[in-house]
Amino acid sequence: MQHVEHMRTAIRLARYALDHEETPVACIFVHTPTGQVMAYGMNDTNKSLTGVAHAEFMGIDQIKVMLGSRGVIDVFKDITLYVTVEPCIMCASALKQLGIGRVVFGCGNERFGGNGTVLSVNRDTCTLAPKSSGGKGYESIPGILRREAIMLLRYFYVRQNERAPNPRSKNDRVLDKSTFPPIEWSKYIDEESFVENFGDGYKAHYVDGTDIFNDKVDWDLIESHHDDIIHELDGQCKSFTLNVRKKPRT
Ligand SMILES: [Zn+2]
Repeated sequence: MQHVEHMRTAIRLARYALDHEETPVACIFVHTPTGQVMAYGMNDTNKSLTGVAHAEFMGIDQIKVMLGSRGVIDVFKDITLYVTVEPCIMCASALKQLGIGRVVFGCGNERFGGNGTVLSVNRDTCTLAPKSSGGKGYESIPGILRREAIMLLRYFYVRQNERAPNPRSKNDRVLDKSTFPPIEWSKYIDEESFVENFGDGYKAHYVDGTDIFNDKVDWDLIESHHDDIIHELDGQCKSFTLNVRKKPRT
């Protein structure tokens, strides 16, 4: 499936964030026409002590540095963002105003989700997208490696609770590795776009609220450490930047 490989990269980065005392939420910005990674981000709210240091903003800043503020608007329509957790309302609005082409995410953001869980900022009419992206909002595709994204958050919360001065009940310290809530696909994507993205063979999942890969979880991916990921992503972003410089925009 076309989106899984890029989401695997975002999940590895989220695992890296977890290993470095951050909330395991991460994203990569991919240049859709070439499939190249342009920028990446992970949550930095704990270290920076600012509530707005979300993964998406770190990536947006990298792109601004790379292209300058004007270039950002030109390129955003050609970007697909892969983010492990649904963008919050604030990030969804920022991405829309920048004219992002598409957002693919893992699990829903129950409290703050801006792509369908709480609000549908990506397709409402409260904020406008720039003319360069047709003035419309952006397409959003949920549910890619959803269980892996949920598990990373569970690892984090169980650990936080163990360390809390007054840990809650013992039940909250038990890591649940077997139950997952259903996914309400229609909150995020209509049936036609779902079939377009996943293929006709997966239609039953849309109706049943089941995951694309059923009960499978890639435990290897989320239980390994990915210390090489930053180096790898920096290399990819650098080669994208060099390509951009080689071909000046006319
Ligand atoms: Zn956010």
